[in-house]
Amino acid sequence: MKLLEQVAVITGGGSGIGRATAVLLAKEGAKVAIIDQTPESGEETVSNIVNTGGIALAVTADVSEPQQMQQAFQQIFEKYQRIDILFINAGINGVWAPIEDIEPDEWDRTININLRGTFLTTKYGVPYLKKQGGSIVITSSINGTRSFRKVGATAYACTKAAQVTFAKILALELATSHIRVNVICPGGILTGINESTTKRHLDWIPGLPNFVKDNIPLTENTAGTSEDVAELVLFLVSDASRFITGTEVWIDGGGSLI
Ligand code: NAD
Repeated sequence: MKLLEQVAVITGGGSGIGRATAVLLAKEGAKVAIIDQTPESGEETVSNIVNTGGIALAVTADVSEPQQMQQAFQQIFEKYQRIDILFINAGINGVWAPIEDIEPDEWDRTININLRGTFLTTKYGVPYLKKQGGSIVITSSINGTRSFRKVGATAYACTKAAQVTFAKILALELATSHIRVNVICPGGILTGINESTTKRHLDWIPGLPNFVKDNIPLTENTAGTSEDVAELVLFLVSDASRFITGTEVWIDGGGSLI
């Protein structure tokens, strides 16, 4: 087992990429803490893990709310007495619409969950990682980093671009604290993300159908799975990647190369 005695905190662990990663890290011996916005989703992941002999805890918090996040980390530390790994993964697609049609509060909601949430998870998690060192992995996307064809997803793409910068500057800040920081950029992955997506008036954008299509050369256009992504996260939080920090890894079957 690659993660024995380690404690991993996973935001958005109640679904999709977060859930698959929680299950895999627990299989590798980590004690897992899921932070998600509803008790039901977090508890379902915990049941999956506990039923197969793993150790897991669900904490309900909104990643964009400082007080809730601070309390979540206190609760996790009280339970496990250490935190080694942060998988900062909770996110929404939000509203995808022509720029003049996006309301300011819709813009703010995407920025708050995806970017402020990344900041708050790091801010309240890092003091615990500093006690012994550790690893942080942030879920960005191909969108905003190597692909720009999801026209209308402006707020989303901006948060995903910012997460890469955040990871790089933080990698330097935390290097001498023996904390590595890396960022993953998935392409199309089959998850529940469409439930957090509102597409509106995209037909107002002239020419849109010509460039939004997803191509995935490696699988002849079959989307990836959450388990594919979980394997990458395991590598990045394990000792196998001990000399890797401040880098992004695209995981998209080559889709963003087109
Ligand atoms: P998902 O919807 O299945 O999972 C997201 C999880 O985040 C859910 O459990 C949800 O409850 C949680 N969440 C959302 N807002 C929250 C909040 N305010 N506080 C706490 N938890 C919150 O989607 P997913 O595809 O697994 O998404 C995970 C990450 O992967 C996201 O950051 C997303 O942007 C990124 N991503 C996904 C894809 C894809 O194709 N699925 C591609 C690139 C990047």
